[in-house]
Amino acid sequence: MSPQRIDIKTDVCIGAGQCALTAPDVFTQDDDGFSQVLPGREDGNGSPLLREAARACPVAAISIREE
Ligand code: SF4
Repeated sequence: MSPQRIDIKTDVCIGAGQCALTAPDVFTQDDDGFSQVLPGREDGNGSPLLREAARACPVAAISIREE
């Protein structure tokens, strides 16, 4: 699998938390409820749930780049 890089458009994120619910091994929420990638998981951690999480985001704030 080619390396991946997660981008969260923090100006678009509404803090719905779907990403952290769907892929808790990659995403977490900061104190204000906005999405953050867990430290060291910027490459998606090989998580099969990553794409699911990106799809689950109601405002499409998550993009996944193949590198
Ligand atoms: S699902 Fe989308 S809007 Fe919700 S916290 Fe994650 S990135 Fe933000």
